[in-house]
Amino acid sequence: MTIKDIKKKKKAQLFKVELILKYGGKCCKCGYNNNLCNLCFHHINPNNKLFGIDMHAFTHKSRKKILNEVIKCELLCHHCHNDFHHPEGLDWKKWDI
Ligand SMILES: [Zn+2]
Repeated sequence: MTIKDIKKKKKAQLFKVELILKYGGKCCKCGYNNNLCNLCFHHINPNNKLFGIDMHAFTHKSRKKILNEVIKCELLCHHCHNDFHHPEGLDWKKWDI
């Protein structure tokens, strides 16, 4: 990884932190806020989603494009995000195996 890459990654992380703070700094469902990597932006209405706001987007998309996309989102932790997208996994302990 070059110095340029490291700077680019750091800049992307700082932008993510800036947006997370704007969204209350924690998961809006459970309040989790420990690890930056476990916080994500969830599109409330998937029909108007242009792209996912992940680290790839933070390093490759313009600030303006991300700002226009993040307004469609709420801040969730990965646990709550997976509970939303994969509710079938919630009752795995009751599965007959
Ligand atoms: Zn959560």
